[in-house]
Amino acid sequence: MKILVLNCGSSSLKVGVFEIAENATEIFKATYEKFEAGCCSYKITNNGATETGQEPFDNIAAALVALPQILDRYGVAQLQAVGHRIVHGGEKFRSTAVLDEATIAAIEALTALAPLHNPANLLAVRIAKEVWSSLPQVGVFDTAFHSTNPARATTYAVPKAWRDAGLRRFGFHGTSHKYVAVRAAEEIGAPIRDLQIISVHLGNGASVCAINRGESIDTSMGMTPLEGLVMGTRSGDVDPGLFGFVSRQLGLSIAEVEAALYSQSGLLGLTDSSDMRDVEARASKGDIEAQLAIELFAYRARKYIGAYAAAMGGLDAVVFTGGIGENSPSMRRRICDGLEFMGLRLDHDRNQCVELADHAAPQIQAYGARVRVIVTETAEQLMIARETAAELTPKVTVPGSIPVAVSARHVHLSRTAVETLFGAGYQLMPAVPLRQPGQWAASERVTLQGPKGRLERVAILGPERLKTQVEISRTDGFALGIDAPVRDSGKLDGTPSVQLIGPVGILNTDGLIVAARHIHTNPDDASRLGLSDGMLVDVHIGDEERGLIFGKTIIRVSANAVTEMHIDTDEANAADIRVSGEGSLVRDLRVVAVTTNG
Ligand code: ADP
Repeated sequence: MKILVLNCGSSSLKVGVFEIAENATEIFKATYEKFEAGCCSYKITNNGATETGQEPFDNIAAALVALPQILDRYGVAQLQAVGHRIVHGGEKFRSTAVLDEATIAAIEALTALAPLHNPANLLAVRIAKEVWSSLPQVGVFDTAFHSTNPARATTYAVPKAWRDAGLRRFGFHGTSHKYVAVRAAEEIGAPIRDLQIISVHLGNGASVCAINRGESIDTSMGMTPLEGLVMGTRSGDVDPGLFGFVSRQLGLSIAEVEAALYSQSGLLGLTDSSDMRDVEARASKGDIEAQLAIELFAYRARKYIGAYAAAMGGLDAVVFTGGIGENSPSMRRRICDGLEFMGLRLDHDRNQCVELADHAAPQIQAYGARVRVIVTETAEQLMIARETAAELTPKVTVPGSIPVAVSARHVHLSRTAVETLFGAGYQLMPAVPLRQPGQWAASERVTLQGPKGRLERVAILGPERLKTQVEISRTDGFALGIDAPVRDSGKLDGTPSVQLIGPVGILNTDGLIVAARHIHTNPDDASRLGLSDGMLVDVHIGDEERGLIFGKTIIRVSANAVTEMHIDTDEANAADIRVSGEGSLVRDLRVVAVTTNG
């Protein structure tokens, strides 16, 4: 599928054409900028050759209207869709969307949240709809990747009336953070679902993102792209009390303070230059202001890395990207220095010799360091092309249906746990066989105790495991007073602890999770259903009135598994699936449709 990508800002237009097949290839790339009366400058890369020059375009609209002839000139034909970068998707756009009249109106309604960016993006959408009227137009939102941030990360502690008016954190650079996290996971050779990654995008705008098992859970930009790191001309985090101070002491209006925080602060405010190359050059010649700016820039980034490792409860990799992240070994080093206590150590030679051609993602951590450090070029346009293609690929609905089992809260115990709770040498008694071969519910029960409350007569599922695992619902977590993460079975690092009480003893153990919904299946059924291990699917469950589509359901293929979907009691209640009695396997229900992408 050949996709045209338009990234239209307030002062520049970036264009990419991508062939999306097994791999994505960029076949045409152009930037138009420095618009003035009767002229703008351009740079075009096509077939490995780059050319720069001037075109007679007064503004971005003129460049867009001329684009079909320009593409013709370079032999770029047979486009199948147009993908647009849209900066702000607000609460409404949690994923990529086809741009029809209704979605365009909804984006327009968000102008107050992104007054500089969204109107520029929409200008490109309107022109493209006329110029390529037969092609589908798709919007990819910078904010969408962060729509998985929990309320504790998106909420400002401000009066309710302000929050009701729409004040909350959104986060930006989502397309970049997603791309580099996916690229880092490829480089590491592990599924992104198994990794805790911090992405550090350092360009003129800069932000950090905590990507916990493939999902953004927090990011440093907030309501606007002003919060967080020190940037080229933006302040990043400040005390909001400064508004009162500056207006009283210096007589500035709110609009003037806001404008100064956007465009006269950051590196520019500290050094008179917003360009890190200048700042680094001056610092190396002994300029004290430039040295402080560099220290402050690195210190703020280092603090966010520490904070986000804590937010995720672990860290596998830090990825640097953006003009500074990609090109400044000394800044990467300053940011990482002092994080050795977290297992993050750079190899200084590797850090110095980073080569990023052809989407390379070199690892630059020291030999034996626990946390990987990766550098890679961001590729927002490529990601927009991929997301556009995915949005337009017909969804495949798997014929037939599969059973659903509802798991009530239960524990899997290790040998040590059995002995601590029930006594030395004790063997659990299998009482009820489960449908997965070899698995059973024991006749014994345990009590779970948390700081807030206890849950009694919790089922124990056998056989014993190497590591104790306690699976509860989100509602159970509130009853216990413990915030359990959503995890795949067996992924227990950094999970909170809970107390288990048995007839003989008490055990404090980590391993408390809300189990991620999943479908067990075997290789034969998987191939019949068009499923493969690790795939994420959407599943429709329940009747017409209260049925729901459960997204991101992971497929687990193993040799002897019986095909069935496992959800927890909260999920079952939400879809109005009635649970009879207690226990882990409750009753047979049918999945109405399994939908896969591609
Ligand atoms: P944008 O956010 O506008 O896309 P970029 O990602 O291109 O910006 O990043 C621009 C920043 O990268 C500038 O501060 C620039 O000085 C910095 N930069 C580019 N190359 C280098 C380099 N070799 N060393 C240090 N900083 C660099």
